[in-house]
Amino acid sequence: MQKAQCDSMSVKKESRADHRVWGDEDEIVDAAIDYAWRRITQAPDPVSGARPAADLALAAGTAVTPWGIGAAAALTLFDQVLLPATRSQNAATNLAYIPAAPTRAALAFDTVTGAANIFAGTWEAGAGAVHAENEALAWLTGLLGWPSTAAGCFVSGGTLGNLSALVTARAAAAASRPRPADGWKIVCADSAHSSIESAARAMDVTVVTAPVDRRGHLTGDAVNAVLTSTAGVFAVVATAGTTNAGLIDDLDGIADACAHHEVWLHVDGAYGGAGLAAPSVRHRYTGIERADSFIVDPHKWLFAPYDCCALLYRDPAPARTAHSQAASYLDAIDRDVHNPADLALHLSRRARGLPFWFSLAVHGTDRYVRAVEQTLTTSRRVAEAIRADDRLRLLVEPELSVLLFDRPGWGPQDYATWSARTAATGAMLCVPTRWNGATALRLAFVNPDTRAEEVIETLRTLRRGAPTR
Ligand SMILES: *Cc1c(COP(=O)(O)O)cnc(C)c1O
Repeated sequence: MQKAQCDSMSVKKESRADHRVWGDEDEIVDAAIDYAWRRITQAPDPVSGARPAADLALAAGTAVTPWGIGAAAALTLFDQVLLPATRSQNAATNLAYIPAAPTRAALAFDTVTGAANIFAGTWEAGAGAVHAENEALAWLTGLLGWPSTAAGCFVSGGTLGNLSALVTARAAAAASRPRPADGWKIVCADSAHSSIESAARAMDVTVVTAPVDRRGHLTGDAVNAVLTSTAGVFAVVATAGTTNAGLIDDLDGIADACAHHEVWLHVDGAYGGAGLAAPSVRHRYTGIERADSFIVDPHKWLFAPYDCCALLYRDPAPARTAHSQAASYLDAIDRDVHNPADLALHLSRRARGLPFWFSLAVHGTDRYVRAVEQTLTTSRRVAEAIRADDRLRLLVEPELSVLLFDRPGWGPQDYATWSARTAATGAMLCVPTRWNGATALRLAFVNPDTRAEEVIETLRTLRRGAPTR
């Protein structure tokens, strides 16, 4: 660093200490950054997890006091009590729900993003960050096979992404036709994520369920039948990677039905959208190029930290009409540029796409392709082992990286006991779900560091007798 620069910095530091209410925070910053460095570089603890609230309150004691407890005490409390009371989403043996597997580059840059504290709602305040976020979105646009005029923004998660897309879809429909007497409707399958029902409740619209085929997919025929017999549908939601089974709906057939009936097609790829990057499964997404809106959560299977959902519109104009906030104190905002705030239900926002962008930029998209393929390979190996095991039964032919299987002869309590024991040793986190009305086991692979052999070894414990008898 230049001498003059150093001098001016030390002058600044002194005046900060003298005049500011917080005093000199440098040591606190050092401690927090040093701690962040250790968190990012250490392997996650697979057996950490929630504890009863009263127990936790007792262990944590009082941290927020009129006088402040200082950085050392607050960090120790976080390290020894609070963080151990959270589940390691990043652990390679965490295969429950949809876990996470952010790259260290993305985690580190999340710290940088926080440090920069950019207001990324508008171009005027966040241009540099928004430019980078848009570059990451453009990679996704390319994977979708959409035109480069597509645009979007990052929101907190799939729930908000779905809601924002559906609000846009309804506004677009309402601009061209009157509200139906019995209200607006969304068509989706039962296998659609719970956030669609939640969006419908928030929007006061009805969900019309279309049946799935024998193998669990929403098809073009089913959608066509519902659209033919139902008035007032403003959007069809197809899922590219159902949360419970990892199935991809018949996007091409559904796109045909939507085109025929002139209805908005939203594709929910919160989990499965990542598979667009993998040549071995890309053919399953045919038709996605005709969708009107799409979401994918990079915090699920694209190696970004929470909270990060990419929301994309093939044509962003109706999103601007639906979401731009107007007020006299916002009049100064330039509306002829890309303002993320204009495209979803938000105004102030952190540049939450930056850790994803940084990791993509550092590692290159080829490594992303490899990482997604590697998780697919792992899940295929485990599926093979389940097929080969005469005590286990694979319930669904896997399409992505979710496996549904059961242990014939076991009941719900057996699964719950096995799951708890397996979690307690840190061997694996695998929680039961339901499939066709019965309890089943489910594994979701998103982490390229997960080792198939290790998972298969743990599944061998299912061969023993039922744990609760
Ligand atoms: C996880 C998921 C969501 C919800 O995403 P959040 O980020 O948890 O809000 C929506 N749709 C699908 C298909 C999902 O798997």
